[in-house]
Amino acid sequence: MEKTFAIIKPDAVERNLIGKILERIESKGFRIVAMKRVLLTLPVAQGFYHVHKERPFFKDLTEYMCTGPVVLLVFEKDGAIKAWRELMGATNPADADAGTIRKDFAIDLEKNSVHGSDAPDTAAFEISYFFSQTEISS
Ligand code: ATP
Ligand code: MG
Repeated sequence: MEKTFAIIKPDAVERNLIGKILERIESKGFRIVAMKRVLLTLPVAQGFYHVHKERPFFKDLTEYMCTGPVVLLVFEKDGAIKAWRELMGATNPADADAGTIRKDFAIDLEKNSVHGSDAPDTAAFEISYFFSQTEISS
């Protein structure tokens, strides 16, 4: 079963949307296999988003991710990586399709409520960045 990695970002946690977002995840048939709520430190956020370190938005993005607690998640389903990207919607909520999490909950391009891995190699990196093997149970 394919696993993917997700974050419920600070804007969504701050607005008490954890339950609503988990409900959408479970109702689409994903099985949550690991979960924790943490306050990221700047070095941890920078390491997580290292692929974006040359981008102009890197500083704002990594600082934003430390403004409040986040929920880190691993969940699985056949084709989980693509299915979760579809359920999240486009990066900019203004471009997101109706019924997606970002369309319904995100505030703007930065405060876009959720993160999702974009490929098998990034999913493997991101899961292992935050979870040990013993914290994941199918
Ligand atoms: P994520 O990786 O968080 O799931 P994504 O894969 O849809 O989002 P990326 O291109 O990986 O988008 O960008 C990572 C995050 O950086 C985005 O979710 C968004 O919060 C922020 N971001 C992306 N592009 C911009 C931009 N042009 N200006 C400000 N922030 C941006
Ligand atoms: Mg991305």
